[in-house]
Amino acid sequence: MADGKAQTDFYARLAQGLDTLREQGLFKPERVIASRQGAEVVCDDGRSLINLCANNYLGLSGDEAMVRASIEATEKYGYGLSSVRFICGTQTVHKQLEQALSAFLGTEDTILYAAAFDANGGVFEPLFDENDAIISDSLNHASIIDGIRLCKAARYRYQHNDMADLEAQLLAAADKRHRIIVTDGVFSMDGTIAQLDKICELAERHDALVMIDECHASGFMGKTGRGTHEHHGVMGKIDIITGTLGKALGGAMGGFTSGRKEVIQTLRQKSRPYLFSNTLAPSIAGASLAVLERLSASTELRDRLHENTAYFRAAISELGFTVKPGTHPVVPVMLFDAPLAQKFAQRLYELGVLVTGFFYPVVPMGQARVRVQLSAAHTREQLDRALVAFRQAGQELGILKN
Ligand SMILES: *Cc1c(COP(=O)(O)O)cnc(C)c1O
Repeated sequence: MADGKAQTDFYARLAQGLDTLREQGLFKPERVIASRQGAEVVCDDGRSLINLCANNYLGLSGDEAMVRASIEATEKYGYGLSSVRFICGTQTVHKQLEQALSAFLGTEDTILYAAAFDANGGVFEPLFDENDAIISDSLNHASIIDGIRLCKAARYRYQHNDMADLEAQLLAAADKRHRIIVTDGVFSMDGTIAQLDKICELAERHDALVMIDECHASGFMGKTGRGTHEHHGVMGKIDIITGTLGKALGGAMGGFTSGRKEVIQTLRQKSRPYLFSNTLAPSIAGASLAVLERLSASTELRDRLHENTAYFRAAISELGFTVKPGTHPVVPVMLFDAPLAQKFAQRLYELGVLVTGFFYPVVPMGQARVRVQLSAAHTREQLDRALVAFRQAGQELGILKN
């Protein structure tokens, strides 16, 4: 390894940056899990914990049926393709999954990516240029922000969830060729559900397209779990839907963009993360297909998730915690102060509950929190045990309002 002045300066600067994060209580450690993902996990120190911080909304990540489905797909289609899609990386299972996702979401066609981050990174640049306007919610996911940066379209930002400001931005962009409104269907830090009914109305009035990112919605929002567009009664009115296979829909990895065939065909020709990155592993494609079949046959998992959410939201508020109101299985328990959020999460860990403290820059300064995420896999007994731990940690740290 080289060890000249360039190296000394560079590594010293990084080490100092890391020290600063630690001093400010902003350093993000990683817990190491030694078991499958699930409602309860075993960490590498042998401790068993109730897990309240996975995006495992439907409890499928460690589910035996998923493991079987992925093994079956691996046996039939092999481990991998060693290719991007257009060279020699498309199998029947990829086409089947794309069709199944389109049917599930109520769209014409779907294109798969290695991650939703790639779907968002590769969606704007092929479809829009300097003649167009992208009008984006100020709290949209980092991957949307990065995707917009890669595109030459004019950028407009509206205040989070603020329909009056959205309209003002639509007016400001009135002279552009195309206008597209972009929003997370559900905002992951607050569990806020985008007002898609109003957004679609504004889009119609101001001649704009609508795109939603459904990473925290696909599989469980809406009566049959299709997503935020179903929840708000605007299925068929959304132009572009991006989403992930790495959260509710199985939890491995992979993403997609769904919409009209002109959009999807254009992305297959021009979207860089699709053209220049490997095809989704067959095990994931096959298992994701099994998930969609299961969710289309029954809303049982989705229903159980929402029951657990309602139960936990009511109980945690009753204990005297400050909770952001809502109905989504993301339940933000507010601590406001970053070091306090870290301390609270650490105490809960000692008491057998796995949650993570979130603070700047993941959430705005002064808005630190522990984000609880419910799962269909949680039993009532596990939730009750978690609530006992919350009460104890809350009392010890003087957080409770009661
Ligand atoms: C998680 C998430 C992503 C990224 O999904 P991956 O498939 O993990 O890359 C994108 N957008 C939103 C809103 C997310 O919550």
